[in-house]
Amino acid sequence: MKKRILALIMVTLFFNLTACNNSNGKTSSVYEISLSSDYDNSNEKSLSFFAMDTYMNFKAYGENAKTAVNEASALVEDLENKLSVTNPESEISKINSSANNAIKISEDTLALISTALDVNKKSGGAFDITIYPIVKLWGFTTGKYEVPNKEEILKNLEYVDSSNITLNEKEGTVTVPQNIEIDLGGIAKGYAGKKAAEKIRSMGIESALLNLGGNIQTIGSKPDGSAWGVSICNPEDSSKQLCRIEVVDKAVVTSGGYQRYFEENGKSYHHIIDPKSGYPAENGLLSVTIVDEDGMLCDALSTTLFVLGKDKALEYCEKYGIEAILMTDDKKIYVTDGLKESFSIIDQTSGYFLAE
Ligand code: ADP
Ligand code: MG
Repeated sequence: MKKRILALIMVTLFFNLTACNNSNGKTSSVYEISLSSDYDNSNEKSLSFFAMDTYMNFKAYGENAKTAVNEASALVEDLENKLSVTNPESEISKINSSANNAIKISEDTLALISTALDVNKKSGGAFDITIYPIVKLWGFTTGKYEVPNKEEILKNLEYVDSSNITLNEKEGTVTVPQNIEIDLGGIAKGYAGKKAAEKIRSMGIESALLNLGGNIQTIGSKPDGSAWGVSICNPEDSSKQLCRIEVVDKAVVTSGGYQRYFEENGKSYHHIIDPKSGYPAENGLLSVTIVDEDGMLCDALSTTLFVLGKDKALEYCEKYGIEAILMTDDKKIYVTDGLKESFSIIDQTSGYFLAE
């Protein structure tokens, strides 16, 4: 209960005062900026809660809105129980602790692993859910951060290879060999947003906004029929909004090195790992935002493209028809064609500019 009250306070602060605010390294990089009601919100139902290690806020409008946000949040909590790598009762923990045994999994886990394997192939291994042994070494799951020694990284890199996962879609089972461990941290929140949106739509709601710790999922348009405005933070100062994208019925998901990180000897280390090196991806990209109907895909791809780096990320977008916004450390913003009309820079003093 205490956790819920804290969540409520945090989200209220977050929304009303501190857009793009950074709370102990867990940042919501994206949030909905049309909060100070330029539309009639008298029939708004808003619910704040803590799940999947982050603060979430669901808002829905119209008849059934209250039931819809309650049921959608319950659905997210259910998913967390199935997917959390730190909950020993979760399906993921069962897979990770049952080497060489086929473990029966739910449709949710199956859909997630199936998409993760597809993105792994398409990205040449940049997205890899068997990254868990390395994520643990860096302390990103426990919060006991440390720079591991090189030998440890090299030893554990041997276990990072998604081709070790056997997914039997017909039987609904998954099997991993000894030492291979799965972590859905790069995709689960997006899936939760997607399923919550499906639930809310199924209840006849035509306007809702779900913020899953910076993963934004919109349902329909704002109650007045206009598009939702979603802002993206300045990756070098996440207390500031840098640009904005207008969307209807889409998810907007950002991955950035500034979202979860620690510092050691003056150098900062973030939580998105390049599976080739075992170190945080460092390639000049500061943040990647994906905009798509499918929130699960958005989440997987924001992590993936962040690892790939700007050139390969743009190639990926071109090849697979993905819409993205990339920010680089030379202050350029790359926006794919399909987003150009709905994109704008809101902080003209930031020094960031649109790349040609
Ligand atoms: P966040 O969850 O903070 O919004 P991401 O969606 O980018 O950010 O996911 C980062 C998480 O994904 C990490 O905390 C880790 O659990 C996992 N992860 C890190 N690197 C990779 C990778 N290369 N492929 C797949 N998952 C990864
Ligand atoms: Mg992701």
